[in-house]
Amino acid sequence: MTIQQVLALARPALLSLKPYSSARDEFDQSTAARDLIFLDANESPYPTTYNRYPDPHQRELKKVIASLKQISERQIFIGNGSDEAIDLLIRAFCQPSVHNVIIPSPTYGMYSVSAAINEVSVKSVSLTSAFDLDPDAVLYEINNNTRIIFLCSPNNPSGNLLSSEAIDKIIESFSGLVIVDEAYIDFSGSVSLLEAIDRKPNLVVLQTLSKAWGLAGLRLGMAFGHPDIIALLDRIKPPYNISSVAQRLAIEALDDRSSKQRRVNEILEQRRLMAKALQPLKSVKHVFPSQANFLLVRIKDAPRAYEFLVNDGIVVRDRSRVALCEGCLRITIGTAEENNKLLKVLAAYE
Ligand SMILES: *Cc1c(COP(=O)(O)O)cnc(C)c1O
Repeated sequence: MTIQQVLALARPALLSLKPYSSARDEFDQSTAARDLIFLDANESPYPTTYNRYPDPHQRELKKVIASLKQISERQIFIGNGSDEAIDLLIRAFCQPSVHNVIIPSPTYGMYSVSAAINEVSVKSVSLTSAFDLDPDAVLYEINNNTRIIFLCSPNNPSGNLLSSEAIDKIIESFSGLVIVDEAYIDFSGSVSLLEAIDRKPNLVVLQTLSKAWGLAGLRLGMAFGHPDIIALLDRIKPPYNISSVAQRLAIEALDDRSSKQRRVNEILEQRRLMAKALQPLKSVKHVFPSQANFLLVRIKDAPRAYEFLVNDGIVVRDRSRVALCEGCLRITIGTAEENNKLLKVLAAYE
């Protein structure tokens, strides 16, 4: 596919949209002398630290992410969580009540919720019982109104990577947008698909600062793709979607790569220990292999196991009513102390 073909799928009304122009957008900073007096945005003049609006284009943060990811700033969209990027991608490419998206099942719930909010219908395609992706089953569901295929790898709630051959086949065969959500990529032994965005204009890769970077409270998600797709998302986003606090703290946090790597390594070690310790428990039927920071565990009477854990103050996610996850709990990897407590409680569950 060419980028022209991809853009031809975007909603025409948005391609021709005249975006909101903020006060600072209409002033060319480069032509000015230093000490500026800003009386253009109806802000308070009193320096409460946060009296000024944030940079709507997140220039400094994008510079940091570009250097970290070795891509161009123009290939980066920053959202108020990946959830904002998911919503904007659906809004940019799907006409309500007309277009549809394809979503493998089971997977992250926000794709279908965002689609429903936008009145975009969802074609659900079951993963295999081992949570593998059957590319032909996905391609079979495509019709003239299919605009987006969502793929989550490593997949939530199963934890496995989708086969890269299957993902490639879908990107190659589908004349629409393929969104690969890599929220958990830093916990996997696999490389990101990021390097492919230069060659594949119909590919958008999502990542987030919410998991491996430990910044879920900041609400920062990223979409990486062709500069023209990124520009479209930037035109339709709320102008000040990322607060000054979030931008500043993210810039600081991204500077400390070694702490992040240390925490990721610790979680990987804990994941290994947990999988090994859970397996022999009497109540545990299966521990699914994981490339993420959680384990999907099939357990005797999952809803009762959930309550049993809650009784001891441990909250996990009951996924037992999700297709293919019958009888399963999803357990996030915590600190060594937290994990040991969980193991101790589960050892008493029968
Ligand atoms: C946790 C998670 C995210 C993160 O969403 P944010 O809005 O960035 O916090 C995205 N995708 C998947 C699959 C997730 O599990």
